[in-house]
Amino acid sequence: MKTIGLLGGMSWESTALYYRLINEETRRRLGGLHSARIVLVSLDFQEVELLQNQGDWAAAGKLLASAARRAESAGADFLLICTNTMHKVADEVAASIDIPLLHLADTTAARIVDARISTVGLLGTRFTMEHDFYKERLQARGIAVLTPPTAGRKLIHRVIFEELCLGIVKADSRARFLGIIDDLMQRGAEAVVAGCTEIGMLVNAEHTDITLFDTTEIHAERAVTLALEDVS
Ligand code: GLU
Repeated sequence: MKTIGLLGGMSWESTALYYRLINEETRRRLGGLHSARIVLVSLDFQEVELLQNQGDWAAAGKLLASAARRAESAGADFLLICTNTMHKVADEVAASIDIPLLHLADTTAARIVDARISTVGLLGTRFTMEHDFYKERLQARGIAVLTPPTAGRKLIHRVIFEELCLGIVKADSRARFLGIIDDLMQRGAEAVVAGCTEIGMLVNAEHTDITLFDTTEIHAERAVTLALEDVS
């Protein structure tokens, strides 16, 4: 079994989900008392969020690259950045280590293509919805990406940082997310990408019949597949 490297703390609420999902999936596949081999390097999200808001992606890239090297030195065989947004600096992180980076957008795109879906709605932080770094990885696989209008994007971003990253889950915010999702479907989306690792805490298959690509679940599941590739 390979050792999974997790770059976490962005936020720790979703890193906790990764930890649980990876271990549950490992136990499901191997049985008994099996659990995953994991190296977790967890950052202080306040520092990361400050750099995001200052637009200092160069400094954020250095911070994550240094954390990635620590995960590699601690024995990780490959690395996951446990946030969609910080894939903005995925190239810098990948260039700073000798182990592979399991890119979250590429992993999600592969799932969407497998499901034969060609148009998705994308929910995430304003960086994920408005900048190109994430959408272009989906578009490169022939997937068309729709995002909510300005007011919807603002609401989603606010809920992520002021509620979900603090572990707060509100029924009112869920209803608003579901309204935004409905609107994306009316505009032609066939499915919606929960492109923020905390969104599954608020909206998941219990709340809607619409196909949701939960990036945390997809990333965690793929990590287990890679970790167990050589295990017969
Ligand atoms: N975890 C979130 C994401 O998947 C948002 C937090 C962050 O900005 O990293 O994008």
